[in-house]
Amino acid sequence: MPRIVVNKNYCKGCEICVEICPKKVFEMSKEFSERGYHTPIPVRIKDCILCHQCELYCPDQAITVLEDDYVEG
Ligand code: SF4
Ligand code: SF4
Repeated sequence: MPRIVVNKNYCKGCEICVEICPKKVFEMSKEFSERGYHTPIPVRIKDCILCHQCELYCPDQAITVLEDDYVEG
């Protein structure tokens, strides 16, 4: 399964990723980040088609899309 990493230190809660994702993978958290923003959660990660749109369009480089064959380290 793909993995989406959202860096809460960069995210400013603009919701572009929520809007741009063709599979509606994200929902915004109801909690506030330390910077005081609602940040996206990839709640429907199983639907992700690895198009990388969220990563490309995030204006703050807050999203990293890791493909399923990614091996950490
Ligand atoms: S597009 Fe980037 S900055 Fe905007 S809500 Fe998504 S992760 Fe946060
Ligand atoms: S890679 Fe594409 S399908 Fe997956 S979460 Fe990002 S925008 Fe949505």
